[in-house]
Amino acid sequence: MSVQLDEMFRELKPPLTAFEAQKEASRCLECGGPYAPAPCTLACPTRIDIPRFVSAIRRGDQDRAGHIVFSSNPLAGTCARVCPTPVMCEGACVLNHVGQRPVAIARLQRNAAHAVSNRAAIDLVSRRGQSRRVAIIGAGPSGLTCAAELVQHGYQVTIYDQNPEPGGLVRYAIAPYRQRVAPLPDEIEPLTRAGVQFRFNTRVAGRDAFSELEKEADAIFLGVGLGQDMELDVPGHRLFGVWQALPFIRALKSGRPPAIGRSTVVIGGGNTALDVAREAVRLGSEQVTVIYRRDRHSMPAYDYEVSEAEAEGIRFHWLASPVGFLGEAWLDAVECQYQELVPDKVGRFFPEPVPGAIFRLPADTAIMAVGQVARTELEQWISGIRFDHGRLVMDADSTRTPNPKYFAGGDAVGGVSVVEAVQWGKRAAEDIHRYLAGED
Ligand code: SF4
Repeated sequence: MSVQLDEMFRELKPPLTAFEAQKEASRCLECGGPYAPAPCTLACPTRIDIPRFVSAIRRGDQDRAGHIVFSSNPLAGTCARVCPTPVMCEGACVLNHVGQRPVAIARLQRNAAHAVSNRAAIDLVSRRGQSRRVAIIGAGPSGLTCAAELVQHGYQVTIYDQNPEPGGLVRYAIAPYRQRVAPLPDEIEPLTRAGVQFRFNTRVAGRDAFSELEKEADAIFLGVGLGQDMELDVPGHRLFGVWQALPFIRALKSGRPPAIGRSTVVIGGGNTALDVAREAVRLGSEQVTVIYRRDRHSMPAYDYEVSEAEAEGIRFHWLASPVGFLGEAWLDAVECQYQELVPDKVGRFFPEPVPGAIFRLPADTAIMAVGQVARTELEQWISGIRFDHGRLVMDADSTRTPNPKYFAGGDAVGGVSVVEAVQWGKRAAEDIHRYLAGED
């Protein structure tokens, strides 16, 4: 691996040695009990019993720790790498309140998951014999989790995915410094062993395809995620050097990183924007600037991620939008316009261009990370399915859609982290099981 690739794939949270893990685990106060779960567990969407698995690591029983984490989260190794822990378990750790750093829960979870997943020792206990079938559209975190839960209830589960490999956004859209591919294959292997069928390179599209599927399956889970990157209709966006975020990350993950210039401008305010900006630094870009049309306070990215990006030398221009990508064939500069936040009638603030407030940022590379479009074509293909403000409409407090045979979760129902998508998958499996058992 070249030095550049080495740097690009250098993980944000490298693994601890067994000794380091035991030492770190001994810092845990093992809070909570049967009637009052520990605050870190309550902050975990999948409710992993954190004090119990950390205690197992402290005792040197990594296998036990691994079984505890996988019993709550079939993608526990992946989540250990990609979870926003400062706003979840580690942010809730009581040690924060006594002026100490929190227990490094994510890194310990990675050790726990590694202890068993490498030996493929996680067995999903499949109660075979159910004749009912469930179709899952999308092999991302919510679909995989839904399948893992349902196969344990004995259902015949088939996952359809348009990609050649499973993992969804984890495999194709999460920057490689967080996770490249491993440990996904180890986490998916137990599903295959338990009887989950995969149909890759299979796009379920059109009314007829869904009608056929409805005849074959007794329930259908839509873990379809989002569609393509949103395009900014800005002059010059087809110049060489102008990228969309998802193809950029795909190229990184393929091991053939895009050629990148000295100056990079990233457009967007979400975590994907920060990921591509930080990867641009790792690829050798000397000047990386993020521009976002609202203020820092309004950025969808986690605040701690913004601080980490600033610490890596990334600059931010808040309240600015691109109005032109300039150059002949290749990008030379991004022309931007300052924005101001103007309230509407109900007091919500929207960015409005400030007349004449134009500036230029020299750039060889620009990456647009302004979000992805919703899969609204599903409205045409499935009776009862509809979207509102880019989100698939669900029954209140449920994963059921207005069409009783369809359930949904993950990014399609609202922008969520991987661990929240896992939790959507667990909830959907419960709802589907109740529906098929006639309890609803
Ligand atoms: Fe351990 Fe912190 Fe969780 Fe308490 S809150 S159980 S100290 S990790």
